[in-house]
Amino acid sequence: MPRCSICSKPAIAYIRYQRKYLCRDHYIEFIEDKVRRALRKYKMVGKGYRILVALSGGKDSSTLLGALAALRSEFGYELVAVHIDLGIYEYSVKSKMAAEELAKKLEVPLIEVPLSEVLGTTIPELANKGRRPPCSVCGMVKRYITNAAAVEVEADAVALGHNADDLAVYNLKSFLSQDLEAISKLGPKTESVEEAAIGRIRPLYLVYEKESFLYAYLKGLPFLHEECPFVDHRQMEVKLKEVVNSLEEERPGMKIQMMSKLALRIKDYPKPQGKIGRCKYCGLITGGDVCSFCRLTKKALGEPMGPKVREYIRSKALKLGLIPRRL
Ligand code: SF4
Ligand code: ZN
Ligand code: ZN
Repeated sequence: MPRCSICSKPAIAYIRYQRKYLCRDHYIEFIEDKVRRALRKYKMVGKGYRILVALSGGKDSSTLLGALAALRSEFGYELVAVHIDLGIYEYSVKSKMAAEELAKKLEVPLIEVPLSEVLGTTIPELANKGRRPPCSVCGMVKRYITNAAAVEVEADAVALGHNADDLAVYNLKSFLSQDLEAISKLGPKTESVEEAAIGRIRPLYLVYEKESFLYAYLKGLPFLHEECPFVDHRQMEVKLKEVVNSLEEERPGMKIQMMSKLALRIKDYPKPQGKIGRCKYCGLITGGDVCSFCRLTKKALGEPMGPKVREYIRSKALKLGLIPRRL
């Protein structure tokens, strides 16, 4: 049986790109050290920061919250989590349970936003009424609500659970279509735009998908193993993932190198142009007069729902004692 390269206990993982075996404890230390180095190297956090974690209930968001919770006293930041109940049948019921269990275990305050209660509808219904594919509606709704929660709790940053595999695929996809503006958003960190759009950080920037899964599993972090029923396995991303995986097979560490290099060059990519304004209904960021969320909800539900969402989150944050924020 292979032994840990550090302490000689039985190994549970082989890190190919570093040619080392690790036991359970050293594996957990290895992942937390990766997150620690990313937080420092890319200046993602500061002492006294409030970080809002988008908690879906899946493995990456569990690893994200688990690793950030393990490093919280070392960096002196505070964590708040938000979970959006999308109303996607059994999948959402189980995701919610995993998110609640995890937040409780790690003692992180959790703001829950059930769409059926706040909007009176769900992602499948909203997609139907708005005549758009579920994933496009869902992605926009999640981005909007996460940002609204960050604004309401006065967070300094929103932490996203994107891992190196996801990012390498987005990077390649954007490169193939020469969408250089999209690449400019794939760095480890984006800055806030006044108080209308809170900056995002990606602490799992250099963590592989498989590493993320094993960390959550070994630490006993609750997470949902099932996929959303709307995941489209014919998507271009799936094909590109196969390509990137076969390159990684031949050149271990390739994805991490790709993302590290991109982080160095991210400033050279053109940023999206156009004016940045405030939505006339909800006051959050938009490229026009009305944000995409208020536009969609007005069309599908007859009313722009941004203000209601903000009000709902504010009342939850008040109940949890998160606002007014004490600095
Ligand atoms: Fe939403 Fe699509 Fe992801 Fe399902 S697969 S959670 S609908 S973005
Ligand atoms: Zn060891
Ligand atoms: Zn709006």
